[in-house]
Amino acid sequence: MNCPLCGSTEVRKDFLLGGAAVHVCGSCSARFLSPQPSDSELLAIYGEGYYKSWGLSGAGENAAVKAMKTATFELRLDLITRYKASGNILDVGCATGYFLEAAEKRGFSPYGVEISDYSSAAAKEKFGADRVHRGVLEDCPFPDGHFDVIAMSDLLEHVRDPLRTLAAARRALKADGVIMIMTPDTGSLTRRIMGAKWTHYKREHLFYFNRRSLSLLAQKAGFEAVNFEAAKKAVNLEYIRTQFAAYPHWLLSPAASLAAGLVPRGLRSRNFGLTMGEMTAILRPSR
Ligand SMILES: [Zn+2]
Repeated sequence: MNCPLCGSTEVRKDFLLGGAAVHVCGSCSARFLSPQPSDSELLAIYGEGYYKSWGLSGAGENAAVKAMKTATFELRLDLITRYKASGNILDVGCATGYFLEAAEKRGFSPYGVEISDYSSAAAKEKFGADRVHRGVLEDCPFPDGHFDVIAMSDLLEHVRDPLRTLAAARRALKADGVIMIMTPDTGSLTRRIMGAKWTHYKREHLFYFNRRSLSLLAQKAGFEAVNFEAAKKAVNLEYIRTQFAAYPHWLLSPAASLAAGLVPRGLRSRNFGLTMGEMTAILRPSR
């Protein structure tokens, strides 16, 4: 088997995950799931329960979860505005548009791409049908060279061909634009401690990068990586409770539910910053 990123044959099986295995490339250090799950398996994973775990069921949005996610997106925008403070911004995998709402408040002109019917419909309500594309970046109708900023949070690990996705981003980006990527980091402390039990190893995560392999991917797509940081996420107890309610654990679900019940309501939705094994990268077109 060849590494899908660098083509090397120095690929070995790391461990089994569901009906597949996580492989690691001895040359570029990229990890990837092989064989990839079928379209129907992925569709089943991204079903209703997936959105429930985010506190985003059809019944409406959970206010505490929205406040928490928005706090995380403000951290991403703080990073982006160090490089680009205005212009057209595209969020790839925009879900219902929380990130774009925060970006719009800072003066960006918001656009989104989202594969889910439910989420893209909600985003279209907020930003207009011509601003949100239901589908993937590769088939989006926005003109080439249209964007000052392209954001990809929790996205690159999900796509079947990350090089194809980044190449499409290169076409959509202005020559002086920037890309912000947030993705799990196999070079993180949590991955090294937890090994195969790392929380980011999931059936729907098809690729796993570290700074080195993400730099190589960027270079192949016509970018240079200009910044890497450990990514912080804002988290609160209410969110932890909804996570464990959606993905039950015999001990932790009752514990999370109990903890959320014991602390005052105000504290339950208080956000704190956590690094959870993810990184951010800023890329710009190579000159
Ligand atoms: Zn490789």
